[in-house]
Amino acid sequence: MTKAKDMQKDLTWEFPHIGKVETQAKEAAYEYCEGYKEFLNTAKTEREFTAKAVAALQAAGYVPMEDGKCYKPGDKIYYVNRGKSLAMSTIGTATLDEGVRLNAAHIDSPRLDLKPNPVYENHEVAYFKTHYYGGIRKYQWVTTPLAMHGVIVKKNGEIVNVCIGEAEGDPVFCVTDLLPHLGAKQNERKLGEGIKGEELNIVIGSLPFVDEEEESIKDAVKLNALSLLNQMYGITEQDFMRAEIEFVPATKAADIGLDRSLIGAYGQDDKVCAYTALTAEIDTKAPYYTTVTILADKEEIGSYGNTGLNSDFVLHYLEDLVAAQGGNIRKLLRNTTALSSDVNGAYDPTFASVYEERNSCFINKGPVLTKYTGARGKSGSNDASAETMAKIINIMDEAKVYWQIGELGAVDEGGGGTVALYVAAMDMDVVDLGVPILCMHSPFELASKLDVYYTYKAFAAFLSSAK
Ligand code: MN
Ligand code: MN
Repeated sequence: MTKAKDMQKDLTWEFPHIGKVETQAKEAAYEYCEGYKEFLNTAKTEREFTAKAVAALQAAGYVPMEDGKCYKPGDKIYYVNRGKSLAMSTIGTATLDEGVRLNAAHIDSPRLDLKPNPVYENHEVAYFKTHYYGGIRKYQWVTTPLAMHGVIVKKNGEIVNVCIGEAEGDPVFCVTDLLPHLGAKQNERKLGEGIKGEELNIVIGSLPFVDEEEESIKDAVKLNALSLLNQMYGITEQDFMRAEIEFVPATKAADIGLDRSLIGAYGQDDKVCAYTALTAEIDTKAPYYTTVTILADKEEIGSYGNTGLNSDFVLHYLEDLVAAQGGNIRKLLRNTTALSSDVNGAYDPTFASVYEERNSCFINKGPVLTKYTGARGKSGSNDASAETMAKIINIMDEAKVYWQIGELGAVDEGGGGTVALYVAAMDMDVVDLGVPILCMHSPFELASKLDVYYTYKAFAAFLSSAK
């Protein structure tokens, strides 16, 4: 080797493509992702993910957290917050005053929610009015099969779970768009207004209710749709005011590419971090620090609401844990190291101008450590400290986990946020770590199987680390 080559090796740094340096990892990664795809197909909403995670936790020996009970090392517990978010722990050998290893991901994803008064008829077609949830590019949600998920609380208190469009043979739903032949004026709209919010109307039926004794029934097609819903779920129009109904893509997760290296699916932001966090938590056996894995709701609308991380539910969970041990919550918080586990936008060479190559994340280079999110001058960002970065990098290097750094796009191109600032607000050290995603927030997001697998490994290393 020449001196320059030596120097280059010693002094410069590039993150490798995992597929080039770790040729044996593919098989394990592909196998791990089969379980992930199954979760994506059967847990598309925050409520469904919570229920499915609880079943997995119970199968792994976790029990519901009991008030005032002091747990011993190795015990595994969970706490469900209103059916829509979840906290879980494996008790460590260290006292809680020494801090915990907290890992927070979110299980809500962008979608179309129903308005509280959604059913109407227009020119003998019945529709649902929607109100989109989270940051969507509205034009992507038309002419794609949608499934209806959610809950309705009936007047008598009975909770009805709704799911139409997922089972084999189920009907699906659709938002219409104009034909190109008549799209000239629509084509002149800016892309962001190509489809407007009030145009996201879902077709739910087109045949009228028939009554031989009455010829002119008002809104007969709407009535027919309501009558079918009534047969299926025993609900009336008024019950939609006591409901949370979400329309999500009806499509299933699929392998992408001839080499099957990527997964295409709805809701990978942030179920990819939620699934890897959940499985890493379950696989952690006798940790030094107590683990605290959080699957939160409402991240996509700013973490507001009592199931989001901008509420005190995590703090209260920690307070309950530490009180039973006779510890001090403030010591626990100050001594805690946390991960905010969320996706980042992977570099897309087709749209190169919005990225800054040297500080972008790339698919197949592993989980991305995002020091700060935010917009413009780091507005709304947690901006993790150098010490926190050093700690997490050391944990991953020691465990031989591939990872990379990344910003969300070039400066001044836009921005975004995660739960990190709310974790930091509790007085913990926290940094973002998660999977690079292509087509983020679209009905069909892409992630690399190697990245998913190494994110699981990163979380497992983090939870079991003792320094
Ligand atoms: Mn996210
Ligand atoms: Mn998001």
